[in-house]
Formats: sequence, structure tokens, C-alpha cells
Amino acid sequence: MRSGYVALIGRPNVGKSTLLNQLLGQKLSITSRKPQTTRHRILGINTLPEGQIIYLDTPGMHQEGQRALNRQLNKTADSTLMGVDAVVFLIDKPEWAEYDRTILEKLKQAGLPTILAINKVDRINNKSNLLAFLAEAHNTYPFAELIPISALKSTNTQALEQALLHLLPENEPIYPTDQLTDRPERFFCAELVREKLIRYLGDELPYRLTVEIEHYQETEKLTRIHALIWIEHHSQKSIVIGKNGEKLKLVGTEARRDIEKMIERKVYLQLWVKIKKGWSDDQRALHSLGFNDQ
Ligand code: GDP
Ligand code: MG
Repeated sequence: MRSGYVALIGRPNVGKSTLLNQLLGQKLSITSRKPQTTRHRILGINTLPEGQIIYLDTPGMHQEGQRALNRQLNKTADSTLMGVDAVVFLIDKPEWAEYDRTILEKLKQAGLPTILAINKVDRINNKSNLLAFLAEAHNTYPFAELIPISALKSTNTQALEQALLHLLPENEPIYPTDQLTDRPERFFCAELVREKLIRYLGDELPYRLTVEIEHYQETEKLTRIHALIWIEHHSQKSIVIGKNGEKLKLVGTEARRDIEKMIERKVYLQLWVKIKKGWSDDQRALHSLGFNDQ
């Protein structure tokens, strides 16, 4: 048996979370076209007949100017690389982006066995570009392997898994073999609500919006969940709620479906929008508007 920790690193939007979900066969990490989707570090545990791979999906970086991004990138890469046994470095085109150079520097310092995964190959039409890039990458850095994959279509993801197993130390499983993550289910419920908000609010999404599970109760027939959506300004409320409450209804319905899939139970999901300062009146106001979803 081999077991160990693997960091998934790469620029925002290259498909780290999509890959994690695909490898685990379950949605653990929320994904979107927006760079800041993954805010928390997520541990995904994949137990295979040959061993256990524990993946770390890393938070996205905020694109607030190049210097800040670089700083954040360095911090994220540093902390994620600490204590892992191997790394998957994801890129999403057969070419280096500017930030990839920074990541390569970090990798060099860390000196960990690293697989370069060129993701989104389903979008590559010109395979000769890919071949030329593979040769170039091989000379750029001593990668343990270069593997073109499609996280979305599951192309070559098993080959990636097998290659990773070979890089891990001989070990008994670190986590119980039926465990999927180190986070409680309620954490993922909040994340799924946040994912739908990102999806349906688009560019209107308040930057500091957060979701908190206030109440999580399993009854005999269903799981009751009360989620608070925290915003900062009163003016953002109508954006989140939408005309006649349509946005919030949609978010609630879609999040509930995903949560039901995840916990395999019926769910009663109630969403509340609260303003961090002076929100006490909103609770009653929203309740009277009937913002809940079954
Ligand atoms: P992250 O920021 O690195 O975690 O990236 P995400 O996993 O959130 O993915 C960013 C976007 O890329 C999403 O819209 C995904 O659907 C898309 N994506 C991820 N993997 C693939 C892939 O293999 N092919 C294609 N065409 N799109 C992908
Ligand atoms: Mg992500």
C-alpha cells in the first residue's frame, strides 16, 4: 500500500477543483469560470486498492493587480507545498503563462516530485502544438511525468492517479478508507449555496458575500438546513434576492438538489440574507417574504 498527500496547484481557473471532483467521483470542491471560487483549502481523500491519495485543493488567488496576486500565489503555494509528498501542477493550455514561471520557481525550491498535467485537452485541436510543448516542458523542469488530461471529460485522469501512486511513500492508509474529506457535511452545504450564488449572480455577486450554516439538523425523514447569506450593504440585498425573490429561489432550489445528492437524503433548505451591520430587522422581513425552499 502507498499513501500520502498530493497538492493540486496552478493558476486560477485551470481546473483544479474540477479534477479533484473527478478523481473522487464526487463533488467536493465548487467550480466556476470565476477565479476566486475556491476559498478554502479542501482535503479530498481517495482510497484505491493500491493505496490512499489525499488531495489538497488550493484556494483561488485574487486578481487585484499583479503584485498582490504574486504575493498571494507565493503564500498559497508555500503553505500548500508544506508536508505533501507529491504535486500535480496544472496548466490549461500547452504553453506557459507568466504566473506559471513563479510556480515553477516555488517548485524548484520545494524539490518535490511533480507531475505536470496539461488540462482541457478536449479543447486542443492542434496536437502537434501539444507534442512540441511536451518536449519543451521536459527540458524546462525535471517533472516526474507529463500527462495531458481532461478533468471535465475524465480523459487520462486514471493514468494520472496511477502515476501519483508511484510517487507516494509506502504507507498504510492515513484516513479511514470510507472517509472522503476532513470537513463536515455542513461545510459543503455552505459551499454549494455559495456556488449557486456565484453562478446566478454573475458579476453582481457581492465580493465579501459569505455563507454560514446556522442550523443543521437530521430528522427521521429529512435534513433541515438553515443557511445565512451574509452581505455587507443593504443595497446588495435586492441583488441577492432578485425580482420577486426569483434569484434566491433559484439558488435555493439548485443548492438543495446538490446537497440531496451529496448526503443522499431529503433536504429542507432555508436561506436567509443578512447584513453584517444592523441586520436584525431583515430576518423577520425575509421570513415574511417566504424565502425558503423545500
Ligand atoms: P480552478 O480555479 O483551478 O479550481 O478551476 P475550476 O475547476 O473551478 O474550473 C474552471 C473552469 O474550467 C470551469 O468552468 C470548468 O468547467 C472548466 N474546466 C475544467 N476542466 C476542464 C476540461 O478538462 N476541459 C474543459 N473544456 N473545461 C474544463
Ligand atoms: Mg478551485
